[in-house]
Amino acid sequence: MDNVTPLGGDVYEIDTRMAGYSGITAGYLILGDRPCLVETGTSTSAPVVRDALASLGVGPDDLATVVVTHIHLDHAGGVGDIAGYFPSAEIVVHEKGARHLADPTRLMASAKMVWGGRLDTLFGTLAPTDASRIRALGDVGSVDLGNGRTLASHYSPGHAKHHVGLLDSLTGDLYVGDAAGVYLPETGDLRPASPPPDFDLEVALRSIGLFESLGPQRLLFSHYGPVDDVPATLERSAEELRVWVDLTKQARSEGLDLDHAVAMVRDRTRERYLALQSDPATVERFELLSGAESNVGGIMHWLDRAGS
Ligand SMILES: [Zn+2]
Repeated sequence: MDNVTPLGGDVYEIDTRMAGYSGITAGYLILGDRPCLVETGTSTSAPVVRDALASLGVGPDDLATVVVTHIHLDHAGGVGDIAGYFPSAEIVVHEKGARHLADPTRLMASAKMVWGGRLDTLFGTLAPTDASRIRALGDVGSVDLGNGRTLASHYSPGHAKHHVGLLDSLTGDLYVGDAAGVYLPETGDLRPASPPPDFDLEVALRSIGLFESLGPQRLLFSHYGPVDDVPATLERSAEELRVWVDLTKQARSEGLDLDHAVAMVRDRTRERYLALQSDPATVERFELLSGAESNVGGIMHWLDRAGS
């Protein structure tokens, strides 16, 4: 299928086609004795993912595990649907996210407040998953991939309080979710992902430091794809966060309201990203994943909480 890309080591990147866009949301299948899907994409992505898995020979009873880096709807919105398609699969998620997959009512209500009328077209509806099928992860955990291969989970908050990174014992691949920001393969741009309500700079930087200390061979971004140059990329992730936080602090100290702060930070960071000098469609995709409004809003929210 044209939305499946082999990455070596029995790992396949699946374009989950959020809201019909290509190249913005990736799921990954680790194919082995115990096939494991990392990230489901949105609810409306679920049939796309099911068909991609079928094309790789993974039928309804073959998927052993579904693991999500965190429960934001572009990563986990399809969990309930995928759990339905693959009745043998165990659903693995950090303990701070587990109850929201079993009962998505509150998660969907807060998403509705953020996205309003765009919620349905962008994400669809997260369906509940039977709690008996959900396994909650603590600070560290492990997923059995078969044949002695494991996926080790490492709690990595900062972007979201229910975020984990996942390290493949065979390949050294690290699934970074959104904790290292948003990477755009076409341009090599990397931008932070600092949305409300959980963003916390110090916590996010510690998670990036943790990722460095794990010594991964390759980073697999949920947005979007593999990156081989690990140390430079993680360094850039930290730098991007600092730049956005510094500028947001500056806007705040000048007494700007959110709209004006967003405009200022967007303006002052524009030249950092090739994508923003690109065609309108690329700009739109970039903004959708790591919008200046969401990033600055998250940083402002954190500064308000910190009382600084
Ligand atoms: Zn995301």
